[in-house]
Amino acid sequence: MLSFLLVAILLHLAGGSPPPEPVVCTDGTSNCTVTNSVGSFPDRVVCRARSVTYPRTEQELVGAVAAAVSAKRKMKVATRYSHSIPKLMCPGGLDGAIISTERLNRTGSAVHEYVVGLRIVTPAPASKGYAVVRELGADHPDLDAAKASGACINSPEDGLNTSCPWDPRVRGSFSQNTDFSIALSKAPAFVAEMQRLRDLSPDTFCAGIDTRFGVLIRYVKASSAYLGKPEDSVDFDIVSYRSRTDGMPRAHADVVDEIEQMALHKYGGLPHWGKNRNFAFDGAIAKYPKADEFLRVKDRYDPDGLFSSEWSDQVLGINGSPNIVKEGCGVEGLCVCSEDSHCAPEQGYFCRPGKVHDEARVCSTSVNP
Ligand SMILES: Cc1cc2nc3c(=O)[nH]c(=O)nc-3n(C[C@H](O)[C@H](O)[C@H](O)COP(=O)(O)OP(=O)(O)OC[C@H]3O[C@@H](n4cnc5c(N)ncnc54)[C@H](O)[C@@H]3O)c2cc1C
Repeated sequence: MLSFLLVAILLHLAGGSPPPEPVVCTDGTSNCTVTNSVGSFPDRVVCRARSVTYPRTEQELVGAVAAAVSAKRKMKVATRYSHSIPKLMCPGGLDGAIISTERLNRTGSAVHEYVVGLRIVTPAPASKGYAVVRELGADHPDLDAAKASGACINSPEDGLNTSCPWDPRVRGSFSQNTDFSIALSKAPAFVAEMQRLRDLSPDTFCAGIDTRFGVLIRYVKASSAYLGKPEDSVDFDIVSYRSRTDGMPRAHADVVDEIEQMALHKYGGLPHWGKNRNFAFDGAIAKYPKADEFLRVKDRYDPDGLFSSEWSDQVLGINGSPNIVKEGCGVEGLCVCSEDSHCAPEQGYFCRPGKVHDEARVCSTSVNP
């Protein structure tokens, strides 16, 4: 009996309330906001949308896309979990439309490496009813444009008894997630440099990263996906504390910032599309040898860029930069600091070189790095 109870308790604890509804509207399905599962984007700015639709069938989905296309309205798909950290699911401006997959009569939206075919709804001319379904089988070259690398808890709601620690409704941990992949051949040298940084000051290093997780390391196979990893790689993931107050520095955050800059700039690291802060994506698209092929397929499927957004244009190198340069931007990871005002000089945080990677610029309290 006791062991049965224990198993029941363990099973209960192993579950997890799903994240909160990402799309909230003040006026039925109009005047909406959309957020991610941690309840805050890296720039802390709330994302707004004009409206949301909840198609239940493929036919309704085609109708939703056609309606937005005929109105020349920008749109984005939002999933039930909206798990990505960057602003991937924000449609353009206040006039954008959200198409939610929450009530769709089929499961699965993340197009991983193992996906061997998909049906994709794309904009179309008026003569074709403004939207068409395209079928991409395993041999279709465009499948490589749709695939990515990189799902979420699928548990019953239980009144938050088993919520995830990052669920914004429980005010648990408020963190940021740094995640990048480095080519396998370069990974040992990168790890040795991280160890040098650790050995300079183990206490500072351990205070900078969330020691419950440490540095998570996993292998990622090379992918044929145009925006996937071009070669076998090692993926590094670091969770670190983030202040709930905009612009408030985090003690020893310079450790994570230095590691991240070293990875991205010295070792050619690729940022995880669904994680990271703004500066990680600056120039990232240039590291993908098949980015042009991706953009060609994108243009063919969505010539008016109705599925594009400010964020996707920035990270794909089409228009603007993901960096936001302003006071305190280095503290928030919105830029790499180049002057003290990008840190918090009034609180003793100045823009300094890294301790191991000289070319890094991090917000630090150290006078002599
Ligand atoms: C705490 C935490 C831990 C995480 N851990 C991991 C991890 O271990 N590994 C990992 O890979 N990722 C991880 N992530 C990142 C996240 O889970 C991934 O980015 C994941 O792929 C998001 O999937 P989603 O279905 O929720 O997509 P969303 O975040 O809702 O959407 C992502 C993008 O795809 C678009 N989209 C979604 N569905 C469709 C569709 N049907 N048609 C067209 N466009 C669509 C959206 O508009 C958006 O632009 C983590 C995130 C958090 C917050």
